[in-house]
Parts: sequence; C-alpha cells; structure tokens
Amino acid sequence: MIELSASGLQDWRQCERLWALSRYYKYEGPPSIWTAIGKTVHKTIELVGQDERPLESVFKEQFKLFTKGVPSNGLPISRLKSGLLCSMGHIDWIEFKKGREPEHEVYFSKILGDIKFRGFVDCMTKDKTIFEWKSTSKKDLPVEEHIQQGTIYKEMAGSNRVFLVYFTWRNGQIRSYELSFDGSYIPEIERVAQEIAAAIKKGTFQITGKCKDCWERKECQSREW
Ligand code: SF4
Repeated sequence: MIELSASGLQDWRQCERLWALSRYYKYEGPPSIWTAIGKTVHKTIELVGQDERPLESVFKEQFKLFTKGVPSNGLPISRLKSGLLCSMGHIDWIEFKKGREPEHEVYFSKILGDIKFRGFVDCMTKDKTIFEWKSTSKKDLPVEEHIQQGTIYKEMAGSNRVFLVYFTWRNGQIRSYELSFDGSYIPEIERVAQEIAAAIKKGTFQITGKCKDCWERKECQSREW
C-alpha cells in the first residue's frame, strides 16, 4: 500500500528523488527553523485563551522551546520574532476562536483503493470548519500549494469550509482567505500513487526537479542512485 500526504504529493511533483529521499528512504535532514517557527505559531494560537498570560509571553516561551538547538540558517531571528509577534498581536484571537471550540492537530487517515492518505489538519471546529496557519515570504496569496493542501483536507476530513490564515513574514501581515475551489484532487492522488508504485517496482527514481534550487541537494547528490 502506498502512503501519501499532501506534502508528499507536492514533493513528488517537485522531484521524484525528493519524495524518495524523505518518504521512501526516510531521510529526516537537520531540524528546520521553518518547522520550528510554524510549530511556535500553531502552539501559541492553540494556547491563546487557555493560558492566562498575554500573547507575547506565551509566544516567547514557545519560540524558545521550539527553536532550541535549531540552526537559524542565516535568518534574522530577532526581526522575524518581533515581526511575528507584531502581526499576531493585530488579531483578537479570543474573539476569533469564540464559539468555534476548535480541536487542534486533527489527524486523519483515509484508504483510497491501494492508497493510504494521511494528514494533520491544524485546527478544525465543531462545525467542521478547517483553519490552516501558514507563514510565507511569497507575495501572491493564497499560495497554490496551500490551496491544493486545503482542498485535499476539505475533501478528506469531510469539512464544509477551509480558511488559510497567513503570516507574511517579510512585511509582517496576517491575512485570511476562504477557499472557494470545490474540485476534487482524488484523481490526481490516484495518478501520483500509480507513478510512485511504478517507480518503486522499477527501483529507480528519476531526476524531475531543478537541482540548482533544491534544498536537499547536498544529501541527494551524495547518494548512489
Ligand atoms: S538535488 Fe535534484 S535530483 Fe536531488 S532531490 Fe533535488 S531536484 Fe531532485
């Protein structure tokens, strides 16, 4: 059975070897500052309203916890931190969450023929509205791959509505978009799963990405493929 997730699907479309590295050979890579920042934002939003302290204290504590020992890769951490805090402070989170009683990090797993599709939804309310928090440096919002991910989650988790909530860290803004795409990604998931199954059977994973811009270049090129 092929295991897939929304990010696995994106990896495969970016480069077959990228998918193979992380999903087939289970290479985890060094801890990522972006993952740590994403976790900080998620956890802070989860705790707002439950924790009596101001958002700033909660955020700083979580930031310290998640980024401990994680290389910054040249990112201006203190600027990023104050930008995040500043933009998050513009939202009345308690009002935002009122009446929604959200569940956080909702896991789902769905069998589609020979495919096991799984994922973590950041937040889903009792009336099945999904919220996905994203941080990006991109200007054109919402980002295509996030639309795809949100649509898949909507379909898989049986949700009614999906909101992508962005923090754009270059200019420190929070924006929220409701997805309006009602199509289905199941045919695409099935198509990719067939390609993956064929590659595994052959035992080869092609170079289908742009190596020059690839963040896994070092690990990938040191392997014998
Ligand atoms: S370095 Fe090239 S072949 Fe390897 S994963 Fe990246 S894009 Fe693919």
